[in-house]
Amino acid sequence: MFPDDKIDIPFCERIFCNRTLNMKSIKAVGFDMDYTLALYKPETFEKLAYEETLKKLVDIGYSKEILNWEFDHKYMIRGLVIDKIRGNVLKMDRHRYVKVAFHGFKELNREERRKLYDVENVIIYEEPNFALIDTLFSLAEAFLFIQLVDYKDKTDKLLNKTYLEIYNDVRKCIDLCHRDGSIKYKVSENPGKYITRDKNLVSILKDLKASGRKIFIVTNSLWNYSNVVMNYICGNPKKELNFEWLSYFDLVITGSQKPSFFNSKNQIYSVDLKSCYLKNIDLINLSKNENNEPKVFQGGHFKLLYDILGIKVGSEILYIGDHIYGDILRSKKEIGWRTMLVIEELEKEISAIQNSKDQYTLCDSLNKKRVHLENEFERLQIAEHENKIKKGIDKDETLDKKIKKVGYDLLKIKELEKKEIRTYHLGLHPIWGELMKTGRQNSRFAAQVETYACLYTSKLTNLIHYGPHKNFRAVRDFMPHDLDD
Ligand SMILES: [Mg+2]
Repeated sequence: MFPDDKIDIPFCERIFCNRTLNMKSIKAVGFDMDYTLALYKPETFEKLAYEETLKKLVDIGYSKEILNWEFDHKYMIRGLVIDKIRGNVLKMDRHRYVKVAFHGFKELNREERRKLYDVENVIIYEEPNFALIDTLFSLAEAFLFIQLVDYKDKTDKLLNKTYLEIYNDVRKCIDLCHRDGSIKYKVSENPGKYITRDKNLVSILKDLKASGRKIFIVTNSLWNYSNVVMNYICGNPKKELNFEWLSYFDLVITGSQKPSFFNSKNQIYSVDLKSCYLKNIDLINLSKNENNEPKVFQGGHFKLLYDILGIKVGSEILYIGDHIYGDILRSKKEIGWRTMLVIEELEKEISAIQNSKDQYTLCDSLNKKRVHLENEFERLQIAEHENKIKKGIDKDETLDKKIKKVGYDLLKIKELEKKEIRTYHLGLHPIWGELMKTGRQNSRFAAQVETYACLYTSKLTNLIHYGPHKNFRAVRDFMPHDLDD
């Protein structure tokens, strides 16, 4: 049973609300599968993706010595941007100002960053020259890219390749690992090694269905792999796969090709569960489901999903996913679905923030002192100027001393504040700092979460703490003029 009051819910397991969402108005709840229903273990799953990609890179001509490289699954964070042309990885604030940048493993200083990114023509950080690290799955790709950038800079092994060509090789090889089954075959062999099983998942699915809602999956994974993963996470203890998990769902769409699922008219096929064969289907009879059987399809688009589930408008759907671009931004922006973003790393981040409260308070008080000194410095400079212009006094030794003293104090406090903010951030992540902040501003990732996710939480099973008809209410918005300090 869910707690009566949110005070009873551990803070890091709460569902946070950007836009008020009353579950009573939700008629269907949909899920992405990878990294949403199924949470992968980074130390094994992302390592597997990394190692399989290395093998593919060797196949296309990279030196065999890269097979000895090791993957650090904690190095990268979500929300970063890869500059494919310059071989850099960037963290920016919500105004797209680059605050942290690495070239390979070397951090760029402020001047180097400004020279590259604070330029006359505003840079649009989008494809084809930039890539967004928006999923946990992209962390391995980003790490491998900077390893190769470092390798190119320090050896003569990749002289014939640009950073862009290296990035494209990595991308091509990762895609190939997905397509040729290199990753999926190994996961199918031993799902427990790669996937976390959450004991609350099945009861949440059952509760949502019992509340009268339609329950569905829209995943880009194909049926044979989805069946393996769903069997495992829904607790099938047997080695043989069965289709019992389908009873928790009204509709399963595999190979959905998100994000184009939300804005195009892809062909839909029905899937034969045993043979995995695809069959053409009669669209006219799509919404008739005489046997009330869960339906499994491949492809299609959101309007067909409305037909099958009897949905009239997008706002009747709550869709839960982990990909800000593929799952959340497109579904909300283009067809008005209500959205919940799964940010797995939030749980650890929240407890780290709570442990860093003293450091944060110190940064805040230094900031206030700096603002005070800046004002004082400006006042003294104005007084000096007025002495010269209005009173004709050229030299005022007392005033000069004061200006020098305040100027010196200001310089020192600026340095100290910068140092302490850096200490705060590096306490949360040793390379990139806090996920949702850059300096004192919200990060680009945080701004996207705020704009596109109605709700966000660390894992979907946090729903266990809330009733199926919960009215999630947004916190009051604050503008700078609302704060009176
Ligand atoms: Mg996903």
